[in-house]
Amino acid sequence: MSRKFKINLHRMLLSLHKNIHALKCQDQFSSISLSKLQNYTSPHEVRSLHAQILKTQHSEDLSLLSRLAHRYLLCHCLGDALQVFAQMKREKDPHVFLWNEFVKWYSRNGFYIESMEFYRCLSLSKTPPNEFTFTFILPACAGSRSLFHGRSIHAQIILRNMDSNLFVATALIDMYGKCGDSLSSRQVFDELRQPTTASFNALISGYVTNGEFNEAMWVFNQMLISRERMDAMTMASILHACASLGALQQGRWIHELIERENIEKNEYVGAALINMYAKCGSIADSLKVFDEINRRDLVLWTSIICGLGSHGLAYEAERIFLSMIRTGIKPDTITFVGILCGFSHVGLVEKGWEYYKLMSSYGMEYSLEHCNCMVDMLGRAGKLEEAENFVREMDMKPDAGIWGALLNACKIYKDVERAERVVEEVLTLDSDNAGWYVLMSNIYATSGMWDGVAKMRTLMKQRNVLKLPGWSWIEVDGQIHNFLVADNSHPLSYEIHKLTKDLDKRMREMGYVPLLDCVFSNMGEGEKEGLLCGHSERLAIAFGLLSTKPGTTLRVMKNLRVCIDCHNATKFITRIVGREIIVRDAKRFHHFREGLCSCGDYW
Ligand code: ZN
Ligand code: ZN
Repeated sequence: MSRKFKINLHRMLLSLHKNIHALKCQDQFSSISLSKLQNYTSPHEVRSLHAQILKTQHSEDLSLLSRLAHRYLLCHCLGDALQVFAQMKREKDPHVFLWNEFVKWYSRNGFYIESMEFYRCLSLSKTPPNEFTFTFILPACAGSRSLFHGRSIHAQIILRNMDSNLFVATALIDMYGKCGDSLSSRQVFDELRQPTTASFNALISGYVTNGEFNEAMWVFNQMLISRERMDAMTMASILHACASLGALQQGRWIHELIERENIEKNEYVGAALINMYAKCGSIADSLKVFDEINRRDLVLWTSIICGLGSHGLAYEAERIFLSMIRTGIKPDTITFVGILCGFSHVGLVEKGWEYYKLMSSYGMEYSLEHCNCMVDMLGRAGKLEEAENFVREMDMKPDAGIWGALLNACKIYKDVERAERVVEEVLTLDSDNAGWYVLMSNIYATSGMWDGVAKMRTLMKQRNVLKLPGWSWIEVDGQIHNFLVADNSHPLSYEIHKLTKDLDKRMREMGYVPLLDCVFSNMGEGEKEGLLCGHSERLAIAFGLLSTKPGTTLRVMKNLRVCIDCHNATKFITRIVGREIIVRDAKRFHHFREGLCSCGDYW
């Protein structure tokens, strides 16, 4: 054994020691590894087998020892497995199979660093790694989001001429996707002669993880063209892309495809369908999917509760929550986020408190998300004092989002004094986010405090903060159309702008007065009005009106919050055109119908 290797092994054993201790604590085990454990021989049985081997002359039989170490690993007795491994190492380098089993064990149980460390020891030993080694080590790089290690392993794969192996290539695609390098993921994919379902899935899910939804859709279409078999994982990933894009027509079509191709509607596909319909603004379809699935697990229940919550259907969410409890399924912390979010949207403060307290009776810990819901709920209900006290007395350190929720409440209730106090807290935590400066500036503007508006603008300039451009999009005939503020790039641009002007004229006749406070710039009033009319959601609505049949419901998505003026304008537009318009903004859904919005102007 070389000296260098001995040092490495020693170091590794030391670091592993910590894990062995950690593994003794039950909660370190994921539920998956526990359930797997039950299928294998008990540690007790393996240990008595080990004792028998030691008593006989078989203690030098390397293949027997190798199987023994493997058995130990299968029942998660890491310490014993390592001991046998070290004993073997003194005689001769163990077979690559056993090295691989260790690399795999660490990686699958979430010990990514240790998995990589074990792989490093293997690469320094005399045993050459094989294809399996790489399919086990790459998920460890992916799990720890370690692009650096992933790339260096890719280099070794190329050196060993194993990059054309389908399993290795798929693991590479997956690793690059999870590490946020979609470009490399795509490069590996493009070099495959015959991509499989698994390699398509890895590429699609990488794009979805990195928020590149249009690319995910494109690859999905390629998969359809190539007639490669699709499975539940393909569908769950692509439904997430549809949900994020708000692409209801595509999502519906994929739902049909699932039924037609008889793809297993497992809990992930079920939850993805519910989530897709909810995020695309069609909660009725979410409920339909939920009703049709008989075998319901926590993921499925939680998806429907969160969906209902995000649509402000708090009582419905509560009803489903209670029937979930009756079936004996225990909620988790995400279920509570869904239900609290519902109560906060409709201002049911007492109910919100009731469920917030219920969490502790389940022995759950509050997360920042739960606190955010509570602050949002209290703030929007006008209980600003209570909301501020809640934030100041939280056990955790509040983040910018929580202070921001309070700041938004200060805007609704025009509480400038409190807002000035709160914005300081927000900006200490998140000084690069233009949204906070704009929000504070709007608070000053609605109270006519123009020097405050100027102060915010100067601060932004001094700190070189750039405003995030607002954009909206709408799906027509399965195609997504994007619009920026005052966008002229769309082929129907002329017609769109003409229609927004016509609508503006008719709205004014009906009593609409533009709210110029929403425009954060120092242009003249006339210019401001022009810009308001060009707000991206109005362009998307106009395009939708032009390109769909009368009476069709329009579904518009926006990356930021809808501004007060556009909210007001959309109400007028529904009266003029006699259509329902659903807007999903960065925070929630607004269902506009006959001059009213489902949020009751409370958002
Ligand atoms: Zn607007
Ligand atoms: Zn609304």
